[in-house]
Amino acid sequence: MLLVLEPALEEKNIERVVRTLEELGIRAEIVRSSSQVVVFVHSDVRALPTHKFSQIDGVARVIRISSSCPLVTMNTESSIEVAGAKDVRVTIGGGAPPALIAGPCSVEGLEQILELARRVKTAGATMLRGGAFKPRTSPYEFAGLGAEALSYLKEARRLTGLPVVSEVMSCEQVELALESVDILQIGARNMYNYELLKEVGSTNKPILLKRGISATIDEYLHAIEYIMLAGNNQVILCERGIRTFEQRTRNTLDLSAVPLLKSLTGLPVVVDPSHATGKRSLVRPMSRAAIACGADGVMVEVHSTPDKSISDAEQAIDPAELQKIAMDVSHICKSLIAIDEAESGLSCAQPAEVRLVAAASSQSSG
Ligand code: PEP
Ligand code: MN
Repeated sequence: MLLVLEPALEEKNIERVVRTLEELGIRAEIVRSSSQVVVFVHSDVRALPTHKFSQIDGVARVIRISSSCPLVTMNTESSIEVAGAKDVRVTIGGGAPPALIAGPCSVEGLEQILELARRVKTAGATMLRGGAFKPRTSPYEFAGLGAEALSYLKEARRLTGLPVVSEVMSCEQVELALESVDILQIGARNMYNYELLKEVGSTNKPILLKRGISATIDEYLHAIEYIMLAGNNQVILCERGIRTFEQRTRNTLDLSAVPLLKSLTGLPVVVDPSHATGKRSLVRPMSRAAIACGADGVMVEVHSTPDKSISDAEQAIDPAELQKIAMDVSHICKSLIAIDEAESGLSCAQPAEVRLVAAASSQSSG
């Protein structure tokens, strides 16, 4: 059981909650984040009525844990609003049009990111991505321009209005990125970095949490729980491929994770076909597939001269290809809406074939 305490409760009152429980023979522990304090009840209290806990002074909410990720599975927040500059606001999830997050693997310089930001916006992107701090498998590879890149991203946001997504790999980098980044990205390699998850959980920024390279869905859910327990419910999930025996693609894109995660968490889920496949020619088909299975957006790596990208050149697409993906996204989205409308207009009593025929005809007439 979790007891969520009232906000800004004084220390002596927090301790009094635990003492009251102890007097009842119940073992409990205080779990703190910068924005929230909860009391985790270790003892088995299934036989005790909820009001015994809700009536304790200072307790705001009682959460009975039937899963090991109570906050994730109880979450009802389905859409997240992200602000850029120039009054730009982008809603992601909750049935909003899919987000198109695009930009280079790494920020390579001011001119590069300003030009790309303009070009991806023209091509239809709704947010700009760009790595300032790069996790690289080899320590000899380009690891990003760091804080300098953050100032370039800030300028790109100022000029285009596009909200900026960028990765942080340490608690110090979170502090540095807060001013320039609108969505803090936790990369696949750091999905298990629990101190980092707690740190971003204590900010008020939306978090884009990528699925770990070999993470099961349950491990992924627990990583989200860390962020939420620290007080931040604004989590966007990202399926970016998992490691399998397949060698022809960089990873294996697990698209079944998209509808599964959406139903388990209610959170927005985006797909990164660039890191999932590692191949430029596969980015567009897998973007189409992602939207068709219900993703709330795609995140793709784009470069003005893809072959010259300093990092991940093989998977970078150019702005012209991005524009095609933007058109695909819009067409597929319209088709899905038409199918849903046709389906809801038909009686549930009708056989499935009739509903499919109706859906197909409404699609061709629209
Ligand atoms: C990235 O998006 O820049 C990245 C490094 O991706 P991942 O963490 O999925 O490998
Ligand atoms: Mn990359």
